[in-house]
Amino acid sequence: MTLRQAEELLQKYYGHSSFRPGQRQIIESILAGYNTLGIMPTGGGKSICYQIPALMFPGITIVISPLISLMKDQVDGLRQLGIPATYINSSLTLTEMDERIREMTAGKYKLLYIAPERLESGRFRAIFETLPVYLVTIDEAHCISQWGHDFRPSYRSMAQMIRQLPRKPIIAALTATATPEVREDIASLLSIEPAHIYATRLQRDNLSFSVRHEEDRREFIRAYLEAHPRQTGIIYCSTRKEVDQLHQDLSGQGFATAAYHAGMSDEERERAQEKFSYDQLQAIVATNAFGMGIDKSNVRFVIHYNLPKNLESYYQEAGRAGRDGEESECILLYSPQDVHTQKFLIEQSELSPERKQHEFGKLQEMHNYCYTSQCLQATIVKYFGDPGSEPCGKCSNCRKLTEEEEIDLTTEAQKIFSCIKRMKERFGLSTVSKVLKGSKSKRILEWQLDGLSTYGIMKEYTEKQIHQLCLELVAEGYLHIRLNNHSLPVAKLTPKAIEVLKGERKVTGLRKIYKDGPKQS
Ligand code: ADP
Ligand code: ZN
Repeated sequence: MTLRQAEELLQKYYGHSSFRPGQRQIIESILAGYNTLGIMPTGGGKSICYQIPALMFPGITIVISPLISLMKDQVDGLRQLGIPATYINSSLTLTEMDERIREMTAGKYKLLYIAPERLESGRFRAIFETLPVYLVTIDEAHCISQWGHDFRPSYRSMAQMIRQLPRKPIIAALTATATPEVREDIASLLSIEPAHIYATRLQRDNLSFSVRHEEDRREFIRAYLEAHPRQTGIIYCSTRKEVDQLHQDLSGQGFATAAYHAGMSDEERERAQEKFSYDQLQAIVATNAFGMGIDKSNVRFVIHYNLPKNLESYYQEAGRAGRDGEESECILLYSPQDVHTQKFLIEQSELSPERKQHEFGKLQEMHNYCYTSQCLQATIVKYFGDPGSEPCGKCSNCRKLTEEEEIDLTTEAQKIFSCIKRMKERFGLSTVSKVLKGSKSKRILEWQLDGLSTYGIMKEYTEKQIHQLCLELVAEGYLHIRLNNHSLPVAKLTPKAIEVLKGERKVTGLRKIYKDGPKQS
């Protein structure tokens, strides 16, 4: 079995002339008989990595997949290419199932798709023991690890069962997202040697990431859609209610949008998805129920209206943009309230205390992403264990650097720092900005913050400008944002800020917004 033969099959069945670099390595490793783990971003071409070996091996390849709703599509797709495949899951009647098992035993299929739960039944085990299974593929392999973002216990029991199969099949595990600890977990549970773990470059050159600290997220989306009339994208919200509201709001303003979430009927969801696939929508407003297996390549933007619970979810969802390789945007709208919501959801979940702690850690990383001054794409890629990536040059942080102008902002910074100090480092940036502006908002007056000596000392700036300036100071490491006991973000001074207060350090280099100097609000 050579790579040449594999390439011929690629040409014959799929019409592609060559493998992508990651595919080649993974396929070579599988063909050489090694248990293999392949990590490849969504759209990277994972299917071919096991489908080509399946065609080359004698007997049958079993594909374990958690996505029951996609099995039919995948199998139909393979049949259209002339590859004999079938699936077994809970959507089949007993008669249909018996029929398929009979055909399978008769050697009619090269690939069988199956949900992990099926393998727990004694009947299936007995059948598998008699089948010539050469290769077992585990799709979405991160589900096996309890450190992953989508742990499924049935994946664990399946791993044991596979290892007990009499013929000892080769195992090919594939996933789009795995942090270093998840990789290790997958590898040890499936007996995969470190030498046979292949991670393709995660960086996606055609995606521009940005994080925006908008006060009015709806207005931002409205303006964005207006400015990009001929593009299609996805807007992710974290709850069904938010999806419905945002969709109504946008369609009420004349934008072609549809809602998509698990609370809708199958029919409604299908209709929304269809419209989206046929470019009849400018945006689909959806919960994370939307996306697994959508095969639309020209998604030009993915906007997150809410903060996702971790970077795994974020990169997976944002990565649905630009699968055709064309320039696309991934925008995250940050709101401190969302951190609170996500934290609450973790607290309320049924996870063990240890796993809750772990989830809090992931949330903190997601939060850090929103405040970093490093390249956003490089930050994500590093999180997934790929240390050597260059700044992308096009994310909101990389862009800022090139637009930067050297302006001395030491005085402004000193005002901000002394205000935070006076406020005993117990408040978030919006409250700090209000105090500096001299806001008469109810809360400020209630908390008697108008009595502070720093109240109103930056009144020549708008509150938004002050807030932006504070965010820059966070990004530059003068301020830290920490969650307090009530999960609310509060601003703290770092030693660097103390040096500025003492007059030992200057603050320079701020952005475009300040070029024109302070504005009266
Ligand atoms: P994944 O499962 O990793 O998200 P898919 O297997 O669905 O990705 O492949 C994504 C797209 O890339 C498909 O449209 C597929 O036809 C295409 N593709 C995969 N491998 C190659 C290749 N070697 N050459 C050209 N196109 C490819
Ligand atoms: Zn960048």
